[in-house]
Amino acid sequence: MTSLSATIQNVFNEPNCAKNANKSEAARKKGCTKQLQPGGAAGGCAFDGAKIALQPFTDVAHLVHGPIACEGNSWDNRGSASSGSDLWRRSFTTDMHEIDVVFGGEKRLYKAIKEIIAKYDPAAIFVYQTCVPAMIGDDINAVCKIASAKFGKSVIPVNSPGFVGSKNLGSKLAGEALLEYVIGTQEPDCTTPYDINLIGEFNLSGELWQIKPLLDEIGIRILSCISGDGKYREIASSHRARAAMMVCSKAMINVASKMRERYGIPFFEGSFYGIQDTSDALRKIARMLIERGAPPQLMERTEAAVAREEAKAWAAIERFKPRFAGKKVLLITGGVKSWSVVAALQEAGLEIVGTSVKKSTSEDKERIQKLVGHDAHMIEDLTPREIYKMLKGAKADIMLSGGKSQFVALKAATPWLDINQERCHAYMGYVGIVKLMEEVDKALYNPIWDQLRRPAPWDEAEINWQAKALAQVDVSAAGGTPTLLGAARAPYAKRTRSRKTVELSIIEECIPTHGSTTVGAMPQDTHASVPAQPMSALQAAE
Ligand code: SF4
Repeated sequence: MTSLSATIQNVFNEPNCAKNANKSEAARKKGCTKQLQPGGAAGGCAFDGAKIALQPFTDVAHLVHGPIACEGNSWDNRGSASSGSDLWRRSFTTDMHEIDVVFGGEKRLYKAIKEIIAKYDPAAIFVYQTCVPAMIGDDINAVCKIASAKFGKSVIPVNSPGFVGSKNLGSKLAGEALLEYVIGTQEPDCTTPYDINLIGEFNLSGELWQIKPLLDEIGIRILSCISGDGKYREIASSHRARAAMMVCSKAMINVASKMRERYGIPFFEGSFYGIQDTSDALRKIARMLIERGAPPQLMERTEAAVAREEAKAWAAIERFKPRFAGKKVLLITGGVKSWSVVAALQEAGLEIVGTSVKKSTSEDKERIQKLVGHDAHMIEDLTPREIYKMLKGAKADIMLSGGKSQFVALKAATPWLDINQERCHAYMGYVGIVKLMEEVDKALYNPIWDQLRRPAPWDEAEINWQAKALAQVDVSAAGGTPTLLGAARAPYAKRTRSRKTVELSIIEECIPTHGSTTVGAMPQDTHASVPAQPMSALQAAE
């Protein structure tokens, strides 16, 4: 068992990540992302990252050891879907209080584990460490070990307290927990030459189910998915897979590379977003399996499925092309989505005016350059104010981003579509790309945007009223007959009496209300002093 700091240093040394491999020894020790300032854990702490990475395992209990707020912060913040157990969505926490800070929270943790096993009998329990118990020195590794031995149940410590770093680091620490305590601890019922692992696929809104039927048809079996719709037994026996795909995310690259080291499972990084990328990924999986002993007919089946599905998908998105002609997209998302979604959008004829690359690696950036060309507008960091300016200046017709920046787009009255983890639609595979285009189309052509961009009715009335009133004055000054305006007069009568200075428009409203026959009688009728300029203009017209 390694200490937390040793595990973190181990995670920072990732030879399979090009960005990491090019760093000096000293830079590598500092990790990948800027350390957060105290209190500035916006965007997720390390605990949050670990919870996000593992919560989609459906048949295990996720127990958060710490004050209740940590669980409140992280519960259900990813829209994964399950085909079976819903235990993963149940919220378990030790709910530490001041007294536990004084006397320690280990006993409380042990009791919570015992209670969960008695009431729910889960396949396993994942115990998440948070800042407070880590700072007071609660040894969750020891408690989990004792509880495992006592209850004969896998109790896995996930040692990733929030203060150690970013969400991304937390996901990697979650991967380390899987490698140390779960993967390789059980054997699958049977193995085939067609078994693969999907790593970093979270089954958001059921996306995995857009790809699984296709893999089933080709004859490829998902031995385990880490972690979308994952079952504990599948992960424990995932070391028997023949190949692995790291799905659009380097968050768990340590799992993929250590499984290659330990069990000889080759992996590649691919994407199921977009027609071309989906086809490439399917071909790569088939090629890898054939290299590891699967019959070559696998490639024929793959090519047949790819040809059929591609034709269907192209035909389905064809209808959007005229509607998307000349439409520009601003993409504010993280990491690999900066290129995988770019490819998908371009396939439907949308123009990318900018894509954020803040969390992207140099490989991701190279891919974007290839896709968008040398004019690629790669945005390192864009403040909400800059995004607003871009949208308000009509530099983009729609923004695709996570929920955090949606209000910037809404304030700029610009269509917006959620493509991050909280999204409600599944965009993966050939079916998913068509769904994505449907949603972009709905957002772009929603009639609400026209209404939002129009001046508010009260602003419009104000402008019209003033403009009409001024026009009347002009007519009067030119010797014409002034016409009194306005239908809704009653509310103004009260205002007129209580004011010392009166706007021209109010005076005009009040003349019929008080039965005044001359403008000169107005001050007497309304008890108001009237500014000299408008009065003289009207008096001139009398
Ligand atoms: S683990 Fe720490 S940083 Fe994360 S939510 Fe809990 S207290 Fe906050």
